Amino acid sequence: MAKAQETVLEINLNALEHNYRYLKSKISSKTKFLGVVKAYAYGSDAVAIAQKLVTVGADYLAVAYTEEGVALRNAGIKIPILVLHPQIVSFDTIIERCLEPNIYSERILTAFITAAERHQQKNYPVHLKFNTGLNRLGFNAHDISKITRKLAETSTIKVLSIFSHLAASEDINEKEFTLSQIKSFHEICTQIDAALPYIPFKHLANTSGIINYPEAHFDMVRSGIGLYGFGNDPIEDKNFIPIVTLKTNISQIHYLEANESVGYNRAFTSNSPIKTATLPLGHADGIGREYGNGKGVVCIHGHYAPIIGNTCMDMIMVDVTAIGCHEGDEVIVFGEKPTATEFAQGANTISYEVLTGISQRVKRVIIE
Ligand SMILES: *Cc1c(COP(=O)(O)O)cnc(C)c1O
Repeated sequence: MAKAQETVLEINLNALEHNYRYLKSKISSKTKFLGVVKAYAYGSDAVAIAQKLVTVGADYLAVAYTEEGVALRNAGIKIPILVLHPQIVSFDTIIERCLEPNIYSERILTAFITAAERHQQKNYPVHLKFNTGLNRLGFNAHDISKITRKLAETSTIKVLSIFSHLAASEDINEKEFTLSQIKSFHEICTQIDAALPYIPFKHLANTSGIINYPEAHFDMVRSGIGLYGFGNDPIEDKNFIPIVTLKTNISQIHYLEANESVGYNRAFTSNSPIKTATLPLGHADGIGREYGNGKGVVCIHGHYAPIIGNTCMDMIMVDVTAIGCHEGDEVIVFGEKPTATEFAQGANTISYEVLTGISQRVKRVIIE
């Protein structure tokens, strides 16, 4: 690992492979594996992650929006790609690029059938999503007869799979609710299988579902955060390796007298002499203002240094009074220590948000 001479997000594909193999060890060899690579593969690099997942043997990929799937097709990714939240304006592109839409409502079903007819498709693969309690996207169980009637009238599309999404699979206190979601999904599967002339495959579990609910793996599992190295639980986290490290280096050191202030609006004033380090990343890179004023803590030579004052657009200042460090020295914003989860906790948020928030200005460096 090279020392950072600028702000970089290092992406470790060996760690990705480790996480993939750990997740695979939790599922049956007959269960398919879908890697979720939406939002630039949780803020990393969707193409590099997708290519590695293809190499290690993932069966499916998923993105949120069509353009994310197009980027993967343009990079030569050939395995099936599920588009989790397709918009009607992108249906032509979906078909042209062989992407597979989530069909989650009657409006979307009707519009997609029209698009498939326009492209003279036969049995175009689609995936039906059911709402079992997340109340976000999905048909409800009582829509089944309407759906199957509509499907019977057309040969343009074919339901490859049916799926749903768990609301709180990481939360043991919500076990009863999760079990009720699993039960509802079973009932939906039974009804669909009885109503269609063929049997679609089924999937429900996200990362925490894979870990906590082996009875809910069905025919495929969908993992995002686990691939990127987080188990949504301090004990499970030990089985994963965070794949990204956000690193930078010290641009400048300042020695301040007592009562001098740091940064915009003079948000920080020291009451004793301090040593500060200015770092070349800020809210335009994804370290938002919520990390300012001591909420975010970075790591320099193994020692923690809190962010002082307000986060600027392109810079943050940290207190390094107690740290023997120099201009040009490496700084870890998050990675192994602190982890993205720990860094995020300072601002009351979660790994998912801090990872996906790292802006495209930060250079991605792939290591393997
Ligand atoms: C994002 C997403 C996932 C991945 O969830 P993780 O908790 O990151 O494993 C799985 N399924 C759906 C429908 C999603 O939107």
